[in-house]
Amino acid sequence: MPELPEVETTRRGLAPHLEGRRVTGVVLRRPDLRWPIPYDIVDTLPGQRIEQVRRRAKYLLLETAAGSPLLHLGMSGSLRVLPADTPLRAHDHVDIALDSGQVLRFNDPRRFGCLLWQPAGQTHDLLRNLGPEPLSDDFDGDYLFARSRKRGAPVKTFLMDQKVVVGVGNIYAAEALFAAGISPLREAGRVSRERYVALAQAVKAILGHAIDRGGTTLRDFISPDGAPGYFEQELSAYGRGGEPCPRCGRPLKQASIGQRASVWCAHCQR
Ligand SMILES: [Zn+2]
Repeated sequence: MPELPEVETTRRGLAPHLEGRRVTGVVLRRPDLRWPIPYDIVDTLPGQRIEQVRRRAKYLLLETAAGSPLLHLGMSGSLRVLPADTPLRAHDHVDIALDSGQVLRFNDPRRFGCLLWQPAGQTHDLLRNLGPEPLSDDFDGDYLFARSRKRGAPVKTFLMDQKVVVGVGNIYAAEALFAAGISPLREAGRVSRERYVALAQAVKAILGHAIDRGGTTLRDFISPDGAPGYFEQELSAYGRGGEPCPRCGRPLKQASIGQRASVWCAHCQR
């Protein structure tokens, strides 16, 4: 599944091709993805100029004066910018045509992605009540400490809560907790301020590194320039249950926490 780094990589790849371009038409090859595609996409979007390509959590917003198409890649979605006459492939569901002669083409075999509409000046329901962006200054150790007081949930579950911070999925939570030396099972409300400072720094470093590498997880993710966006990442904990801890050599533990597979070192992470 595309995680925050893949979505940010997609945003950075798309922006130079979309920003400043006018939408000349929209082709929907089916009426829905995960949800029905709203009529505004074919009615209001054509004629609008894309001012900015923005990301919030794992959503992409193509901002225009009238409103913004709101895209999510779901489990298997990908976006490419192509010459308008490029032959279709299976699962090419949507084309947004641009005055450059190119199209933004949305492909999604499993159709857990979405294409919705956020009217100008409004915040879509899906974007309300989201926590801060992990790479923003609003997210730091002091914030995590304050937010976690009296929280009895395991710290890993707390860190993956989108109301606490967006975009820290299972892989990145496991890796950040390993880097910070915090047991994923520890109660969120019983982690000290100092250790939350280390955890916030680890989240920023790991996500930043993954973005620099161009995303990590989806094998068939195609970056906007056509190159595979999947890069083998050197994961320390995630997916390595039973293997030696990279730090102390003892076998890594594996168990389910909050119904998510979790791997950690019971010696290095307390
Ligand atoms: Zn260890």
